[in-house]
Amino acid sequence: MAGQYNPYQNMLDVLDEAAQKLGLTKNDYVTLRTPERELIVSVPVVMDDGRTEVFEGYRVQHSSTRGPCKGGIRFHPSADLNEVKALAAWMTWKCAVVNIPYGGAKGGVKVDPAKLTRDELRRLTRRYTAMILPIIGPEKDVPAPDVNTDANVMAWIMDTFSMFKGYAVPAVVTGKPLEIGGSLGRKEATGRGVMFSLLNLLEKLVRSPRGMTVAVQGFGNVGSIGAQLMQEKGFTIAAISDAHTALYKQDGIDIRAAMAYAEKNNRSIKGYSEPGLTVISNAELLALDVDVLFPAALENQINKDNAAAVRARIIVEGANGPTTKEADEILKTKGVVVIPDILANAGGVIVSYFEWVQNQESFMWDEDYINNNLEKVMKRAFDEVWRVHETAGVPLRMAAYMVALERVVKAKKLRGVFP
Ligand code: NAD
Repeated sequence: MAGQYNPYQNMLDVLDEAAQKLGLTKNDYVTLRTPERELIVSVPVVMDDGRTEVFEGYRVQHSSTRGPCKGGIRFHPSADLNEVKALAAWMTWKCAVVNIPYGGAKGGVKVDPAKLTRDELRRLTRRYTAMILPIIGPEKDVPAPDVNTDANVMAWIMDTFSMFKGYAVPAVVTGKPLEIGGSLGRKEATGRGVMFSLLNLLEKLVRSPRGMTVAVQGFGNVGSIGAQLMQEKGFTIAAISDAHTALYKQDGIDIRAAMAYAEKNNRSIKGYSEPGLTVISNAELLALDVDVLFPAALENQINKDNAAAVRARIIVEGANGPTTKEADEILKTKGVVVIPDILANAGGVIVSYFEWVQNQESFMWDEDYINNNLEKVMKRAFDEVWRVHETAGVPLRMAAYMVALERVVKAKKLRGVFP
């Protein structure tokens, strides 16, 4: 996000600490402190009224050490190069921590898509795709959905790329509609992965979801689906919010009903009601007396100004970078367990990987196979991170970075620095 907070610096601070804990020298990982490639593009769009507006777009490839770069595309008014750089680096660590053969990338356009018509959004997406076309492709860099982008946007990206190539290239992007090579389970994958990582933690703590309360910040793809799946597992979802409102009901909100309402109301829960529901502020939501806080909106939401007020004992990061390094320190002293973004929300990229493999094989897997494999990969990664957490005596975020960094550095050493 724009402003004082610099998410890339936040990432570097955690990375440097992980490197130090692993006993790495600067030379071992210096190449990973800077993205491999940063592209800024201008995206002119002829608006419906005939005016031409120019938007700024970005695609950053942080690392291709372990495979093709991979990462979503975000349409948001506060998207900027630093944010995209941080998001790209987090993708490198995420793919490494869950051990899938990808590097990290991310893209964004500084735009408020709510102010565009569907035709304008389509033209914006196609022109942005054309502008980043030289650096994307199934073997190079594979985009996916992120904030304010969905399967429809992915379909336009796939079509634009394919038109330039002269043949259909489904593997250029993941999170596509099923009809053009999308994968079963992809839409739900990030939320499902968040739910799995929370269950993995509870297993270690020998606790059951029954009676545990959750507050969810952000009710888009990750927040709403994650909340719904958690509710199905027995958690009580006591609060939900989006950019427009926050809602609280101690004995649990009907998530399916709230999702159906959002579907019909511009993807917002503003105005949703049910007996016993009260409207609260987003700040109040973050400080609720619940067991679990599930941020699923944007970066920098839990920071030095509000971390002390957090009363949840567990934070499961659906969003990327919702907790700053300063907030982490405060949460640590309070004994709050944070399941870090690069582990907790990796379900999306894991099933994106499955989608890409299915595209390369021209074969479709069934949903049970996908969800079972997602669960396995999440569990294996959680166990590996937990082991480092216990042996090195570090919080889960540091443990996840240590697992990821060690893997990327090993790969880097095997490949060497060109030439
Ligand atoms: P989305 O656009 O579907 O939903 C975002 C939600 O956050 C919306 O409900 C929006 O209203 C809400 N929001 C925005 N600003 C807010 C604020 N200040 N307070 C409260 N709510 C606010 O996006 P998404 O795909 O669900 O992504 C959410 C987060 O999850 C992002 O950090 C994204 O990078 C991360 N993530 C997404 C995926 C994926 O597969 N979509 C994968 C991994 C991580």
